[in-house]
Amino acid sequence: MKTISGLNYTLKIKELIKNTINEAQKNIFENYYFIVDDPLFFEEAFFKYTDTLFNIRIITYNTLINNLLNHYQIYNQQKLSKLETILMIKQIIETNNYIFNTNNKMELIPEIINILELFYLEELDNPDIETLPDLSKQKITTIIDIYKQFKLATPKDKCFQYEDLLFNHFNDSLKNNHYCFITEKIFTKHRYKLINQLASISDVTILMNNSDDNRDLNKPFINYYDKDNDIIKDDDLYLKHLNTYTFSLQAPKFNDQSPLYKIAQTTPKAEIESVILNIYQDIVDNQTYYHDYAIYYPNHEYKMLLINTLEQFNIPHNLSKSLIFKEMNACLSFLKYKINKQKDDLLDLLDSRMLKKFNDLNYLDRIKKNYLENNVLDDPFSNYDFNQCVTLNDYVKIMLEFIDQEMITNENVITLINYFKEFQSTQEFSLSDFYILIKKTKPELKEDKKPCNDHLYLLNYDQCYSGILDCKKVYLTGVNETVVPLQFKDTGILLDQDLKSLKLPDLSYQIGSNQNNILKALNSNNNYLVISFANASIDGQPLLKSSLYNQLNNMFDIKNIDISKDYLHQSLKKNLYLKGQQDSKQTALNTMIDKYIQSRNQPGSLTTPLFSNYLSASKLETYNGCPYKYYNQYGLKLYPFKKPSFQTNEIGSIVHYVLEKTKELFSQLVIDVDTLPNIIEKYVNEYIDNNELNDRLNDYNNIYIIKTVKQDLLNTIIVLNQQLQASDFEIVGSEIEIKRKYPDFNFTGIVDRVDQSDNYLKIIDYKSSNKDLNISLAIQGFNIQMLLYLDTLASKQQLDLGGLLYFNTKKRILASSLKITEEESSENFFKQYRMNGYVNEEVVTRVDNEFERNSNIIKARYVKKDDCYKGNILSSFALKRLIDYVTGHIEKLYDSLSHGNIQIAPKGSDDPAIFTKVNPCTYCNYRAICNFDVFYNEYTLVNNENLEYLIKEGEDNAN
Ligand code: SF4
Repeated sequence: MKTISGLNYTLKIKELIKNTINEAQKNIFENYYFIVDDPLFFEEAFFKYTDTLFNIRIITYNTLINNLLNHYQIYNQQKLSKLETILMIKQIIETNNYIFNTNNKMELIPEIINILELFYLEELDNPDIETLPDLSKQKITTIIDIYKQFKLATPKDKCFQYEDLLFNHFNDSLKNNHYCFITEKIFTKHRYKLINQLASISDVTILMNNSDDNRDLNKPFINYYDKDNDIIKDDDLYLKHLNTYTFSLQAPKFNDQSPLYKIAQTTPKAEIESVILNIYQDIVDNQTYYHDYAIYYPNHEYKMLLINTLEQFNIPHNLSKSLIFKEMNACLSFLKYKINKQKDDLLDLLDSRMLKKFNDLNYLDRIKKNYLENNVLDDPFSNYDFNQCVTLNDYVKIMLEFIDQEMITNENVITLINYFKEFQSTQEFSLSDFYILIKKTKPELKEDKKPCNDHLYLLNYDQCYSGILDCKKVYLTGVNETVVPLQFKDTGILLDQDLKSLKLPDLSYQIGSNQNNILKALNSNNNYLVISFANASIDGQPLLKSSLYNQLNNMFDIKNIDISKDYLHQSLKKNLYLKGQQDSKQTALNTMIDKYIQSRNQPGSLTTPLFSNYLSASKLETYNGCPYKYYNQYGLKLYPFKKPSFQTNEIGSIVHYVLEKTKELFSQLVIDVDTLPNIIEKYVNEYIDNNELNDRLNDYNNIYIIKTVKQDLLNTIIVLNQQLQASDFEIVGSEIEIKRKYPDFNFTGIVDRVDQSDNYLKIIDYKSSNKDLNISLAIQGFNIQMLLYLDTLASKQQLDLGGLLYFNTKKRILASSLKITEEESSENFFKQYRMNGYVNEEVVTRVDNEFERNSNIIKARYVKKDDCYKGNILSSFALKRLIDYVTGHIEKLYDSLSHGNIQIAPKGSDDPAIFTKVNPCTYCNYRAICNFDVFYNEYTLVNNENLEYLIKEGEDNAN
């Protein structure tokens, strides 16, 4: 057996490739095998020197083993599948009551299997564990016992690994074969022995990437290195210096120029953008090809950044993206919900969009809203019951039923079904063990990508092939501390001390292996090699430059790549402008930006009157909230596209229609609750028929909305009836039109319900939300509608102001403090429906004549010691004064409106609680048009003070 050592990985492989091609051409009846980890890259490397691989095969180690088994027709034993191995270990742990027999044993099993594989490969049957601490001793004794039992339990027609089957089988039939191993998979005791046996018959060459010193990077080869090996020396002085000192304690300066460059950027994203721009510019300047470049990435985050940025630049590369297996995730959410019964998991499942009945976004939104606001979420999957399941087969049967009945059929679902069908076993399982089994064994989905002839190479640090692929420029990304080189943690089942005493690959072995790979990447180019790193993570946490970079910086002159012009590139110009700079060639854009800054993103005033002189309360309230919103909504009449699901105003119309039709019921002494649902049903259907809305009931979302509306209405009618029974007021009108003349405009509107008691008039607004009147805000023009309605109606009929109330028609959920055996009093239920708004202090007992200490109808209470009512109560004077303030305010609004002011000036407040009440932006449809700019636009701040003192007697008149 011939072994080739030395640290110049690329040079060694290239020599081997060239020699192999020469030999293979001379000996055409002999077979030459290259055993590598990534055959495709090696094939490309071979084709740089030859047009055909006639008697050369490039295969993986596993393919070699399979080929040898076929060659010797060894078919009597099959390797245990992953599932079979897991099931065997699970059974062994459970039947022996080992320390691993805990609730999370399934989580540990994959790691235990890896340890058993290590024991197998390192031939560790009876290790000496006497020197270990007691806890480690117990742990390792258990693992050894599991290993022994596992070997005993392996069925005769199965084997753990294939190597054992091949020992002592090699014979002269392989004598014309040549094997060249460029893989570190063979550096284990067991495999190395096998390769040695093969070498006694065939010509075997092994490649090691090591040197004759005691740096950690030599650790992976230490047991296999022989000083008599052929060592390929470095002729190149730069490589010689690099390979002698990197990862050592010394860093002498190399006196010549080095091929090293650096890119230092703010974040990993910016780092990757700069790397790709550098390549892009180089291709344009030097007319090179994509395959002249290779980028090394350290982890998944960098890989995704690279893939996404390259896609943005339209640059082809060699990687396929991993896809999210949404169908599998839905199954996992289903199982998680069945285990924990947490509604959040159920919501995740419904929200997966993989279910036939829950695929409508509006419907899902409604379900989510109902859950978030009322904690109500029905379980549509209660028929799938895992409680009776005992064996793995039982669980799989229910899963397959669930997939078949509930999930939208697509290609991925077929993969999912095939995956579950492989789970055949009568072994007993708990539901959580089944869940972890799925989580641990779920397959990965990859993007189906067409290969492109010329593409850039994205390689991880274990795939150091840029040298053999002849890439002219190489980029090493993520060279930050703990990333490159990687930080290894001592956290597995076997700790570092355990590994050391068992003479298994320990932490320093892993560190060495990682360093060895990085050195291979550094060796892959001695003309142009860029090291890049970021100074902070995306969330602003500082990142340190890698100690590797610091050492290289001491050893070599590293030239800086200028990234300041990167943002002039078309695809990143946005970033240039975000940094406050401008591209002088973009004159039109620059002029627009200057104008924008000058006007502070504000439109000019209108010069032509755009509005009719009929104004409603909603128009005035909209203008008060933001003039620009008013301009879009009522001036330009821009409306969003109608959505298929019922909108709030449409739901409101249905509710108002039914309440108008059923208003007689409110005054009845007794209400027949049995017939009420039918009455509601009749009127809801009548409204839908009259307005030709039946087609919209094909939508799940709308069916759900109508169902909820009917439930809400049932409660509403019962409560409205109760409230009227306890009141001296009587209904005198509903859906009443309001008209009023102001000096410059006409005011119009419709009031939902008008009640009267003697000379007092009270109005009620039916709302599907918890709307209320805030006096300080009403003085500033918010929620003024009901005040204007009440004033208009009362003055017209020469009656007194009785009150203005809001009735919330949404169903309430009782938070009860009672025990389950105690009966809830209906009073507690009615209390939930107390109305918002204000009443005149003179009519408190007329509104609620059952009033004792607290009213169940309005927000008022009797205070005995002061002998008065407190709460949402105003005197006649205060009500009148409030209306005067509102009238004064709307005149000011009209003045501003008639002068064409359409400023982007939404109301706001520096008090967050008030901000949410007054700011109209959150649900505004015109956000994308106004482009409210936090740097230029400002909120018109409301007065946060309590202004109620203004309407008290003794204060100056409002006018
Ligand atoms: S988003 Fe805000 S600022 Fe823009 S139009 Fe709407 S309310 Fe006005």
